[in-house]
Amino acid sequence: GKVLVTGASGFLGAWVSRVLLEKGFSVRGTVRSNSKGDYLKKLFASHGEGKFEYSIVKDIEAPGAFDEAVKGVVAVEHTASPFHFDAEDPQALIGPAVNGTVGILNSILKNGSSVQRVVVTSSIAAAINPVTKPTVFTEKDWNKASPKEVETKGKKASAFDKYLASKTLAEQAAWNFVEEHKADITWDLVTILPPYIFGPIIHEVHSYESLNTSTLDLYTTVKGERAPEDLAKPISSFADVRDIASAHYLAITVQAAGGQRFIPSNGEYTWQDFLDALADSGLPNIPKGTPGAGKSVVHPAQFSNETAVKVLGVKFHTIQETAKDTVVSVREHGW
Ligand code: NDP
Repeated sequence: GKVLVTGASGFLGAWVSRVLLEKGFSVRGTVRSNSKGDYLKKLFASHGEGKFEYSIVKDIEAPGAFDEAVKGVVAVEHTASPFHFDAEDPQALIGPAVNGTVGILNSILKNGSSVQRVVVTSSIAAAINPVTKPTVFTEKDWNKASPKEVETKGKKASAFDKYLASKTLAEQAAWNFVEEHKADITWDLVTILPPYIFGPIIHEVHSYESLNTSTLDLYTTVKGERAPEDLAKPISSFADVRDIASAHYLAITVQAAGGQRFIPSNGEYTWQDFLDALADSGLPNIPKGTPGAGKSVVHPAQFSNETAVKVLGVKFHTIQETAKDTVVSVREHGW
């Protein structure tokens, strides 16, 4: 069958497309330009003539934007959503996140009679809440704080809350849509809540500055541009892009996944943990920091991957593999 992957030109979307192709699916990727689509066609040429095709969706917020793209596919992986921390107006993130999600679900309702499952890429952003004591978040949790911050502070809310709110509101909109249309839909919904994603980049990136947000974040540390006092601070949780892509594949093939949220997290990290993981990689020019200083750090926000492991069967690369393969792929570009 054929699977629709939105945002196929992105860091994660390209990997979701690749894993689906490797598993024997055909893929239709949505992209915003012909040049991005052609890059992917070349990248995936070895999977066979016509196995990867692309469809141009310039503006995911436009009503009916996905009406053509959803035709004839058995499943949809909706990864397209802005991920950056430079929005002044929160609507710059919330608009595409929420309207893009509701828009594609409406298109499926209209033209997607062959669709059996829809996967929406959410984020741990949609489950976290501010905590001071160590707290383990699970699929039962919803971020109540960020949407409220944005509602009350608008443009003055933190850049962080604007992004977190966009992911939370988009995922909520998806579950609300399923609830409102349950009598008319033939598919079920799965949401994947990735932590920070690192790992090799296979999508098209023209400049160091235009690397996706999470890769740039890790690479800032690798370049030695992170303040020493920040290296052993608790940052967040992470997973490898190949494992998150795999989770997206499993989300459409594991029957029991229907109707559930999943947090495929490989654990918490400090930047020092990544430097330590790179220390034995044999790669040159890796800052040392203070080896081991991340080990005893207490992480206030933690995420349980129990459900993702049990139901989806997600497996994780080691932090050594993730760290090394990220650096190798960025350096291949000459950066
Ligand atoms: P990228 O920026 O690499 O990819 C985002 C994708 O979405 C690109 O294909 C981009 O298209 C597309 N996109 C963004 N905004 C729009 C818009 N307004 N209209 C149309 N398309 C748009 O980011 P990631 O791959 O990291 O993110 C993919 C998904 O994973 C997102 O939903 C993100 O929220 C989620 N996620 C990512 C995490 C991470 O650490 N990377 C962690 C948790 C969740 P184009 O190439 O044309 O810009």
